[in-house]
Amino acid sequence: MSSPIVELRGVTRSFEQGGVRIDVLRGVDLKIQPGEIVGLLGPSGSGKSTLLQAVGLLEGGFGGHIAIAGQSAEALSASERTELRRNHLGFVYQFHHLLPDFNAKENVVLPQLVAEKPRGECEARAEELLTALGLGERMTHRPSQLSGGEQQRVAVARALANRPELVLADEPTGNLDEVTSDKVFAEFLSLVRGEGSAALVATHNERLASKMDRVVRLHEGHLE
Ligand code: ADP
Ligand code: MG
Repeated sequence: MSSPIVELRGVTRSFEQGGVRIDVLRGVDLKIQPGEIVGLLGPSGSGKSTLLQAVGLLEGGFGGHIAIAGQSAEALSASERTELRRNHLGFVYQFHHLLPDFNAKENVVLPQLVAEKPRGECEARAEELLTALGLGERMTHRPSQLSGGEQQRVAVARALANRPELVLADEPTGNLDEVTSDKVFAEFLSLVRGEGSAALVATHNERLASKMDRVVRLHEGHLE
């Protein structure tokens, strides 16, 4: 078997709130193979977003072992972590977090420019992704000129722009109505599959979870 794109061993995270300590992650073990799409289920407050932050190397404060693409997070400097995120990971959040002053295409081009790719290549990639998501006629629209479903599609295109080996999605269609959510979710999965990326997708929706290769559930700080 090839080496995993994600490996977590005994990952812990606690928060101190009003003098009370909450142990949100109590020793999480998880392996994701390249190209595997894994659903992360759990009720609200169970720690899904916290776990995605651990895998995304977005914050400190975690105990245990985290390795992405064979590199141990503990051994990396802040700038190396940033580089690993940029080269290997793509993020989609519940709220799109698009840059409001840039149009759809520019929002997909920018992360590629940050990764120091040539502009022509960045633009072609943005057009390819936006077209695949049915936004061929929306490239020059700003986020405020797009519907909620269209905004999330742009966010999906942005996450995939740099061809990440792993996509981290935190309730990516959670703020959309059911019909739009199902549609955007299906497009998201088919695009991720087509690209051959692995994904860890948090949701509390069992129906959406059933469309993934495998599901893990967060319960009392552990995965089962
Ligand atoms: P989920 O995404 O499954 O809804 P979260 O990971 O957002 O769950 O939160 C899990 C628990 O951790 C919640 O009880 C939440 O209040 C707590 N929590 C998350 N982030 C923080 C923080 N920055 N400070 C204090 N508590 C936090
Ligand atoms: Mg959450």
